[in-house]
Amino acid sequence: MQVGLKATGGTLFAIGAATVALLAPSAHAGAGGFSPGSARSGDPFFPREGNGGYDVQHYGVENSYSPGKRRLRGATTIDAVATQGLSRFYLDLRKHMRVSAISVDGQPASFVQRDGKLAITPAAGIPDGDAFTAVVSYDGHPRPVVDPDGSSEGWFTTDDGAFVASEPLGTTSWMPCNDRPDDKASFDFDITVPKQLRVASNGTLTGVTRTESKATFHWSQPEPMATYLATTTIGRFRFLRSSQDGIDSLVALDPGFGRRTPAPFKRTGEILGVYQKAFGPYPFGSTGAILDPGPVGFALETQTRPIYASPPSTYIHAHELAHQWFGDAVSVSRWPDIWLNEGFATWASWLWEQHLGKRSLHATFRKAYEAPLSKRFWGPPPRRLGGPKNLFDSSVYVRGAMTLEALREKIGNPAFYGLLRSWVSDHLYGNGSTAEFIALAETTSGRQLDKFFRIWLKRTGKPKRW
Ligand code: ZN
Repeated sequence: MQVGLKATGGTLFAIGAATVALLAPSAHAGAGGFSPGSARSGDPFFPREGNGGYDVQHYGVENSYSPGKRRLRGATTIDAVATQGLSRFYLDLRKHMRVSAISVDGQPASFVQRDGKLAITPAAGIPDGDAFTAVVSYDGHPRPVVDPDGSSEGWFTTDDGAFVASEPLGTTSWMPCNDRPDDKASFDFDITVPKQLRVASNGTLTGVTRTESKATFHWSQPEPMATYLATTTIGRFRFLRSSQDGIDSLVALDPGFGRRTPAPFKRTGEILGVYQKAFGPYPFGSTGAILDPGPVGFALETQTRPIYASPPSTYIHAHELAHQWFGDAVSVSRWPDIWLNEGFATWASWLWEQHLGKRSLHATFRKAYEAPLSKRFWGPPPRRLGGPKNLFDSSVYVRGAMTLEALREKIGNPAFYGLLRSWVSDHLYGNGSTAEFIALAETTSGRQLDKFFRIWLKRTGKPKRW
C-alpha cells in the first residue's frame, strides 16, 4: 500500500522520478501502453533501494530454514496493483539468495538477478490499475547487509537458528520485496524449521503444523507493515502469553535468559497504558517482545513485537513500544525523516519516566540541553543529516526528542497532545513527512512554526532562542 506518494525531496533523483511519473501517462496514453517500472525509489539516502510502477498489497512468505546448513529456501507470493502499464518490474533481493523461478499470474516470467535487483518480465504486459500476483522462488545462505554507517542488519545466524532485525535495508537479505518504507503491505509468514525450534514473527501466531521432523509456524500481520519491520526469528524459544493493557501479548524468550518473563516485559501493559492515553489506541492486535542473543548492538521496533539481543532496560522497552505508534503505524515516507521515528520514541520514553515520577519532561529536556551526552550530540541537525551514514546519529534521537519537548512547552499540552493524536490517526497504517508534521503542528496550534522547526531541525549548533 502506498499512501501519499509524493516527490518531496529536492534531489536530482526525486525530480527525475517525479518527471518520469508525470510524463508516463501522456507518453503511453490509452490502454495497452506498457513500459518498465522504475528500478529505484529515489529516496535521498537510499535511491537504489525500492522500485516503482506498482503498489504491494500483501506478502505471503513461505520459508524453510535448515540451521545446520544455514540454508534458507522458500517462495514469496507478492500481491500488487500496477500503477502504470508494466512491461517489466523490479523487486529487491540480495544476490546470496538465488532465484530459481518467478511466475506472474500463474505464467512463468523471465527474469534477471543483478545488483540486488530482480528485473521481471511477465509473459504479457500488466495494464495500469490491474492487480497481479508474482511468486518468487529462491534458495541461499542469508547473511547481513552492511550499511553506510558500518552497522549490519538483516539475517544473522545464531547458535540455534537466526536473529532477524532489518532496519533499514536488511529485509532484502532474506526475502524479495519492494524495499521502501512507503510501500506498506499486510504479511503472512509460514516458516518451517526443525521440530525442536520455534519461529517468532510479527502479528499473531495463528497455528503450527507439524510433521515427524519439522514444524511450520503460521504468523499473520494483517495491518500494513513496512518491509524493514518484518522478522522471522528462529530459536529454542519459550512462548510466554499474557494480556497487557487488554492486548494479547506473546514474548518469545531464549531459555538462556531464564524461564520467567524479564521484568521490563512485565511492564508492557503499564507502558502501553501511558501511551494509549497520550497517543490514542494501540494500533495493532497483539504485542510482546523477542529476546534472543544475536550479534547486534541495537534493539528494533519489529512491528507488534520488538526484538532484543540482550535484556533491555524498561526505558529501552518503552522506546521500542513507542515506535509501534511512531515508526510502525505511521512510518517515514523517506529515510531523511528518521527523526519522526527516533526523536518521537525517545521523547515517549521521557514521558514514561515522567509517569514513573522519576523526572519531569521539562527536567529531562534541561538536563539534555545543559549537559550534552556527547560531542556529536548537537549535530548534525536531525533533518539535515548530510547522508545515510548519520541515519542513527545520537542527535536524531536526543535533539529530535528535545524538538518535541520544546514544541510542547511552546504550544501547550492541549495543542501538543492533540497534534500527536491527529498525527497518528491522520497517517495510520501509512506514512508521513517532516513537512506534513510541521503543517499539522501549525493548524493544530494556530501558530506560525516555520522558524521554530528550522532552528531545531536544520540549524547547525545548539539552539539558543526559539
Ligand atoms: Zn528507536
